[in-house]
Amino acid sequence: MELRAKVFAVEKVFQTLDEEIAKFQEGSSLHCKFGCGKCCFKADIEATTLEFLPFAFHLYQSNKASEWYEKLKASDAEICLILNPAREGAGLCSEYPHRGLICRLFGYSARTNKYGMRELVTCQIIKTEQTSAYQKAEIQIEAGGNIPVMSDYYMQLHAIDFELTQDFYPINLAIRKAIETVVHYYAYR
Ligand code: SF4
Repeated sequence: MELRAKVFAVEKVFQTLDEEIAKFQEGSSLHCKFGCGKCCFKADIEATTLEFLPFAFHLYQSNKASEWYEKLKASDAEICLILNPAREGAGLCSEYPHRGLICRLFGYSARTNKYGMRELVTCQIIKTEQTSAYQKAEIQIEAGGNIPVMSDYYMQLHAIDFELTQDFYPINLAIRKAIETVVHYYAYR
């Protein structure tokens, strides 16, 4: 698949996911605290290369790929470099439309536990500050209610590109690898 087509395919998956999340949020009334972004400060967030391909493609198109590549290469930060702690508004992500799959899934998706049951993957803030909505959502999920399932979405990305979804890397390395993929692709064309 041509790189641009791959980017569009990933964006299509993201769009479906965003719609599914919006429905889940509406039904459960679970929501993020305004201006929060605390989950993005976790140091061990991992991602695949493919989920940051749209971001890398966007950088390439705006002639910012080299600048970002060097910035990522020079940094040993464990926290996502796209995060802007000084940002004002609804969240701290400086590239929200191009965020990765994990950034979209966390908070409003389910994983399947070892007993084969789906359980909501969300943060402590939502669990403690929206306890009754959280408990209600858990019951609905157990009863088969609709919620995006993490593994389903990883499978969808896997179907787009096996190689770029095979390994999980610390988030900044995943972004760097996505930029490398885009730059190498166009360097040979
Ligand atoms: S998921 Fe939780 S920690 Fe992350 S932005 Fe939303 S409220 Fe904040």
